[in-house]
Amino acid sequence: MNAPFKPQTDLTAIANFAQTHQAENDRFSAFIKEYNDEAIDAKVQELDALISPTISCTDCGNCCKSLMVCLNESEADRLSAHLTLDRADFDARYLEKGSNGMMIMNQMPCHFLNDNKCTIYEYRFEGCKEFPALHLPHFKRRVFTTFMHYDRCPIIFNVVEALKSAMAFERDQIESSKN
Ligand code: SF4
Ligand code: SF4
Repeated sequence: MNAPFKPQTDLTAIANFAQTHQAENDRFSAFIKEYNDEAIDAKVQELDALISPTISCTDCGNCCKSLMVCLNESEADRLSAHLTLDRADFDARYLEKGSNGMMIMNQMPCHFLNDNKCTIYEYRFEGCKEFPALHLPHFKRRVFTTFMHYDRCPIIFNVVEALKSAMAFERDQIESSKN
């Protein structure tokens, strides 16, 4: 990329593009799986490092608004202590628990999102730190979840679209709604 990269960050445009390019994305998922793991990881990480800094998560906040947030016992202990709530109060206010011990935040957008910023940033959960996980190895094991979030996360959207170009993937002939 020679010219400065201009990401698409309009969530409506991204959602529309995702809708019209479902078949192309299904084909691209299959295409990716044919490639060598290390080569894909290197390409995705390179594009993520290039593209992520061009997108402002505090202008977006869409993952914190639209994703189910999971946490574990130690994360709940840590955050409840920070909020000076005992665990029973914390759990009653913020959590829903499955019979298998799984804990999720009982509200979307997340309770702790304010003005698109995380108000407990130092205490946020592993899943929050990791998302959208493009910097991690084994991208091919996460192709399904990556595409699940393609229409909600501008970082994923732009990295995937750049990846199609970088891999010389043959796109469908559809009138583009991306630009
Ligand atoms: S804890 Fe913070 S980073 Fe995680 S979903 Fe809530 S607002 Fe977002
Ligand atoms: S990670 Fe993606 S969905 Fe979440 S705030 Fe950043 S750009 Fe938006």
